[in-house]
Amino acid sequence: MTTPVYLDYAATTPVDPRVAEAMSRHLTPDGLFANPASRSHMLGWQAEQAVEGARRQVADPIGADPREIVWTSGATEADNLALTGFMRANRARGRHLVTSCIEHKAVVDTAKALEAEGFEVTWLTPGHDGRVTPDQLRAAMRPDTVLVSLMAVNNELGSIHDLAALAEVVHAGGAVFHVDAAQAVGRIPLDVARQGIDLMSLSGHKVYGPKGIGALYVKRSPDIRLEALIHGGGHERGMRSGTLATHQIVGMGEAFALAAAEGDADQARITALRDRLLAGLAGFEGVHRNTDIGVAVPNILNLAFEGVDGESLLMALRDIALSTGSACNSASVEPSYVLKGIGVPRPLALASLRFSFGRFTTEADIDQTLHALTHALEGLRRQAI
Ligand SMILES: *Cc1c(COP(=O)(O)O)cnc(C)c1O
Repeated sequence: MTTPVYLDYAATTPVDPRVAEAMSRHLTPDGLFANPASRSHMLGWQAEQAVEGARRQVADPIGADPREIVWTSGATEADNLALTGFMRANRARGRHLVTSCIEHKAVVDTAKALEAEGFEVTWLTPGHDGRVTPDQLRAAMRPDTVLVSLMAVNNELGSIHDLAALAEVVHAGGAVFHVDAAQAVGRIPLDVARQGIDLMSLSGHKVYGPKGIGALYVKRSPDIRLEALIHGGGHERGMRSGTLATHQIVGMGEAFALAAAEGDADQARITALRDRLLAGLAGFEGVHRNTDIGVAVPNILNLAFEGVDGESLLMALRDIALSTGSACNSASVEPSYVLKGIGVPRPLALASLRFSFGRFTTEADIDQTLHALTHALEGLRRQAI
């Protein structure tokens, strides 16, 4: 059996060995393992220094001040804190939230929970390119709109939102702008001031850091108040209690520093790999691009293979780690809500696969994938005749 090729970087990335090395210095008795909130001894101060160093490493690549970074358990918690925390704290100002129907479940399900709590949500439908336009957003704004939440890079399609243009509309309407940037760090330029972002969700494990750590950027401004969701010792300016996970935080910091230093070079190399896959598929019939590559990151490519069933194709490609984006419940397979959201017809949505590449993807991986795809498609289409 050949070693599987990993093309599911959008689901999670491996921890960069340099990150793992930094993390390992914060676990064992000979390391900086102390509680960073311990003020009564040197070991606590040293752990606190490590946490504060990582806070700067996470703040720098997005143009933030380290004091604006709130550690969370991941981007899911950051999305929950941004939406629920902000809407609850600003009830008196308005009850209306605007988002899109292709956001990550962490935003979609939080917005649904807020609807059940009595808030009102407008769900924007993006175009075929996976993007909401500033005009669409302008039309959805109301006098009682307090928050707009739109993602920087879509995790299934790779489509990139024009954040600065959207922020202008949000702020003209007197609202606050939340951006889920879990897939964006190291992939596109981020600058909270220039792009007008007030709240931004970040994750460690999409950027070669560990799972179970993330952050919410919270702009320092009297307009941005959040109600805490987790109560306890009052850590993180009262916004998120709980003992800080020093090793996770140090890992995320190191990962973000590497993304800042190497992200552009990674993306240039990955663009060539993506194009190699596309060139290899050029001779295939019935391959549709769900990703509009003109407005997408190169590391995510969503393709539909006309006339085949995505689940069967995935089975035939068992040596390639990929994702379909469709959701299985016991009775049936439902197409991805994201593909549905951009208007991909159901049969094509069910025949779609997401290829996502990363720092450790090689040309040999792409060639092996093309080889496996050729065999799988020929086999499946022969069966279909
Ligand atoms: C992965 C992901 C999340 C969730 O992040 P976790 O750190 O796993 O909680 C949220 N939003 C997007 C766009 C993602 O890709």
